[in-house]
Amino acid sequence: MLTVSNQKGGVGKTTTSVNLAAALSMHGQRVLVVDLDPQGNASTALATDHRAGTPSVYQVLVDDLPLSSIVKPVPDMPGLFCAPATLDLAGAEIELVPMVGRETRLKRALAAFESMEFDYIFIDCPPSLGLLTVNAMAAAQEVLIPIQCEYYALEGLSQLLQNVELVRVHLNQTLALSTILLTMYDGRTRLASQVADEVRSHFGDTVLDSVIPRSVRLSEAPSYGQSVMTYDPGSSGAMAYMEAAREIAYRAAALAGAS
Ligand code: ADP
Ligand code: MG
Repeated sequence: MLTVSNQKGGVGKTTTSVNLAAALSMHGQRVLVVDLDPQGNASTALATDHRAGTPSVYQVLVDDLPLSSIVKPVPDMPGLFCAPATLDLAGAEIELVPMVGRETRLKRALAAFESMEFDYIFIDCPPSLGLLTVNAMAAAQEVLIPIQCEYYALEGLSQLLQNVELVRVHLNQTLALSTILLTMYDGRTRLASQVADEVRSHFGDTVLDSVIPRSVRLSEAPSYGQSVMTYDPGSSGAMAYMEAAREIAYRAAALAGAS
């Protein structure tokens, strides 16, 4: 279970969650995407209904609705499932505050949801470090941080890492920052390669070898309710996410072998 987190908006969290999940499902894995952003972008990209009134992650967190009752199969993508987010979820950030176990409500919902064994669960976080992101970090084993290869990319990162550490100490000892993925890489600029080098020198092996290039296909796919994997499988973006998914799968296999 990976939480895809970065409190910056527009760094590729949703694009990464959706396309890694799609890539892994196309290799025969059962994969769930939990949309934890009130904007519902992951739900849109996975063609999963998230109009107002649709039972969503909101009811799971706030009203204790079982997760199994909101998870939907993604159309035309065998093995891929989505737990949609509706706009109500914006209110959850505040409504959760007085609740018992407010930081671990997603963890509890996921733990009670073992009927549909998944190989991978991706949690697509909102662009903040509020209670929703804390719920994601309390539930997951791994944190995946997408970093946009732009100026300012590293700003705010220490705050994010501090939060990971706080959650690890207080809520979830098994949490690890396992994966960093460089996104929106523009090979024509020196800045992009400088940012990439800096991230690699800081984070070493945590950074995947695969780098996601800027690709207009990646930004077009969601408007067709598709991942880029089906929208344009031969595009540079699709191939890069396929490669990143392969790396993640190999790492998981290596970990399983080691334990
Ligand atoms: P976040 O979830 O972190 O806010 P998104 O995944 O929604 O970020 O990406 C922000 C915007 O950038 C979206 O419009 C998305 O389609 C676009 N985008 C994401 N990754 C790429 C990429 N590698 N190349 C081009 N556009 C991208
Ligand atoms: Mg997003």
